[in-house]
Amino acid sequence: MNFDFLCPKCHGHLRVGDHIIFSVKTENKESGLILMHPEFGNYKYENHSSLRLEEGKHIDFYCPICHAKLTSDRHENLVKIIMCDENGKEFEILFSKIAGQKCTYKIIGESVEVFGKDSDDYIDFFNLSAMT
Ligand SMILES: [Zn+2]
Repeated sequence: MNFDFLCPKCHGHLRVGDHIIFSVKTENKESGLILMHPEFGNYKYENHSSLRLEEGKHIDFYCPICHAKLTSDRHENLVKIIMCDENGKEFEILFSKIAGQKCTYKIIGESVEVFGKDSDDYIDFFNLSAMT
């Protein structure tokens, strides 16, 4: 899967190799970098051991290029980035900013594709029809 992931503000590339890179800040005001996987439904991530990400806590995600806060206007608990497929088609990608909460939404037009065991938690906020 060679999709690109872009910052919705500056359109800078957040994907480098097999990771999507974010700058994050925890509720305890600790900052660091987090490397996430580009496959949907893979919630493994890597970070330096000095950055403590506790389950259930909010993590604020920022673009590492322009430092914009990547919060969706659909729900304050969701991070928004852009995915660009091989044809240049852009999708809105949302995922939870709560550590340990596994949900991802891929939105184009009025349709949403959902991933992750916690994906029911926010689906009602979108007012979109789920793709089956
Ligand atoms: Zn940016």
